[in-house]
Amino acid sequence: MRRPLIAGNWKMNMSVGEAEGFIEKIKKVADTTNDEVLVCVPSIHLGRLSSKALGSDLKIGAQTMHEEEKGAYTGEISADMLKDYGISHCIIGHSERRKFFNETDESVNLKLKKALEKDISAVVCVGETLVEKEDGKAEAVIKRQILGAFKGIQGKDAAIVAVAYEPVWAIGTGRTAEPEDAQRTIGYIRGLLDDKYGKGISDKIRILYGGSVKSSNIKNIMEQKDIDGVLVGGASLDKDHFKKIIEYK
Ligand code: PEP
Repeated sequence: MRRPLIAGNWKMNMSVGEAEGFIEKIKKVADTTNDEVLVCVPSIHLGRLSSKALGSDLKIGAQTMHEEEKGAYTGEISADMLKDYGISHCIIGHSERRKFFNETDESVNLKLKKALEKDISAVVCVGETLVEKEDGKAEAVIKRQILGAFKGIQGKDAAIVAVAYEPVWAIGTGRTAEPEDAQRTIGYIRGLLDDKYGKGISDKIRILYGGSVKSSNIKNIMEQKDIDGVLVGGASLDKDHFKKIIEYK
């Protein structure tokens, strides 16, 4: 049985005051559901917000981390630094990181290996752009991203990774994939993981959907058999709306 994961990604939003008020409210909501609830916050807020969430079931995650242990990487944050603050989760390879910060399948793979080594639960993002979709290349792109991300990773480690399928054309656009289409692609991703690791492992890997998820569409998304959760951007910025998303059942 895969435990659903409801994750928010604040991106570069929220003042510290707003963020603290948000965590204060959402940690109580997280305590009332059996699903895992995660909020991935700007790195400067990680320490403060992980203290704020302490003692509750709410998990605080990072939006990225560096693949190297330490060194001359100005502006970057290491896995050990996340661990220092008790950060349990990290998004890896978000499409905005791939687009604006030149992250590649290779760097995603290195980051994932480092996260696993340091016992950080990774949420690895994959998804096609609109052009790739229109050119009929979506599955080929996703296959390349999945096989690239999991290259050299053992099944026992892969089992604890979460994958987020986020079609780039659905991120921040208000345009959501039809639940049945998201299911089809997520089923395809599970098939790729099945071919690589076998059913015993692929059945354990959580696969989320992301792309304009809101309180009004989450229920239909979560009803799909292979969809184990959501990664929510814009709608995770409003605490009342995010509460409704967590309470989708
Ligand atoms: C995201 O950034 O991961 C995302 C899915 O954003 P939004 O929900 O705003 O589309």
